[in-house]
Amino acid sequence: MTTSIHLPPHRLSAAARRLRDDVRSFLDGELAAGTFVPRCDAWMSVADPAFSRRLGARGWIGMTLPSAYGGHDRSPLERFVVTEELLAAGAPVAAHWIADRQMAPSILRHGSPSQRERYLPAIARGECYFAIGMSEPDAGSDLASVRTRARQVDGGWEITGTKVWTTGAHFAHAIVVLARTDGSPGDRHAGLSQFVVDLPAPGVEIRPIRTIDGEHHVNEVIFDAAVVAEDSLLGERGAGWRQVTAELAHERSGPERYMSTVPLLRAWAEHVRQHGDASAERELGGLTARAWTLRQMSLSVAAALAEGRPPEIAAALVKDLGSRFEADVVETVRRLAGIEPRKHGPGLEGLLAEAILHSPAFTLRGGSNEILRSVVARGLGVR
Ligand SMILES: Cc1cc2nc3c(=O)[nH]c(=O)nc-3n(C[C@H](O)[C@H](O)[C@H](O)COP(=O)(O)OP(=O)(O)OC[C@H]3O[C@@H](n4cnc5c(N)ncnc54)[C@H](O)[C@@H]3O)c2cc1C
Repeated sequence: MTTSIHLPPHRLSAAARRLRDDVRSFLDGELAAGTFVPRCDAWMSVADPAFSRRLGARGWIGMTLPSAYGGHDRSPLERFVVTEELLAAGAPVAAHWIADRQMAPSILRHGSPSQRERYLPAIARGECYFAIGMSEPDAGSDLASVRTRARQVDGGWEITGTKVWTTGAHFAHAIVVLARTDGSPGDRHAGLSQFVVDLPAPGVEIRPIRTIDGEHHVNEVIFDAAVVAEDSLLGERGAGWRQVTAELAHERSGPERYMSTVPLLRAWAEHVRQHGDASAERELGGLTARAWTLRQMSLSVAAALAEGRPPEIAAALVKDLGSRFEADVVETVRRLAGIEPRKHGPGLEGLLAEAILHSPAFTLRGGSNEILRSVVARGLGVR
């Protein structure tokens, strides 16, 4: 039977709108003080621990965590407002992004009391950063085929295997590793487990992978019989697939999946205002309308998360549409702005160069668009 995807419009509360004003004035102050310049894709590639600590001090990291763990008891919708403003400003948030977005909820849900005490307050202060160790050289889209193994040994677990495309592992304080502990090839979803491994660690080598922009954002992480403590296991042994699937809903559902190039769109809007012609204005209007629609959809997914409704299918749809929008912004500006993109160049030139070099990753990271469309089709009962 075919079902449908519901994305009912959501109106933010007055408290959330006031919070937005607070975040905007904080960001205006930071920009005026010259602590950052707007960058495209900054949530993935521009890390500034001092900036993260300042956000932590304002209560804008770990917002949905309970105060008992250093959090702020705020709703996912209030967190949405904060992340949206940080993305629109192109602020340097990559240091804490993964920890805040998915590891804090995951550790709160599945972690032992000691894991919660150890990591959650530090995450909320903007001082503890995480990497995601899911993908492997032969297991990206087909995550259930991970070959990294964890074997129980005296006093802990021995992990052997290679993770790849691991964002931020070179500055992270910990990595969450998906590994096979049990199970048979016949039932690939059973027998996977997650481990929290502090970094750096003996037996764990982190090698940089340079992306097309020549920079170091992602890594290969090699576990060579690395022995980690007994209580590194996150959640239940063998429940890794279920835990990872829930985590991916957080990874895929946020506004960063359509806002990576919004700083470029904003800079181009200003350029069009000063120099534009009618056709540039028309295209700008079209992109702005799409941004507005995606924003309504993304907000609706955040509302579903806040109400405890499963958002996986709608999140996959928004990420597919959103990541294509991000790339369309780049192509439109490249075609119409009449400027030469220049890496590290000022304003629009630099933003365009950066966005061009990052755009091949938009439809891959967090799950490729082809895979997301399969998730949507299966969710709609299409065979
Ligand atoms: C910038 C960047 C950062 C990343 N950060 C992280 C990270 O921090 N941690 C982490 O674990 N991973 C990370 N990844 C990895 C990312 O999740 C994978 O690249 C992604 O899941 C695709 O896997 P793959 O690269 O192995 O490609 P493959 O799985 O080999 O796929 C290659 C192509 O084949 C298509 N394809 C594969 N299977 C099917 C199918 N069944 N039907 C139709 N088409 C199919 C895919 O859509 C894709 O276009 C990152 C990737 C990038 C680019």
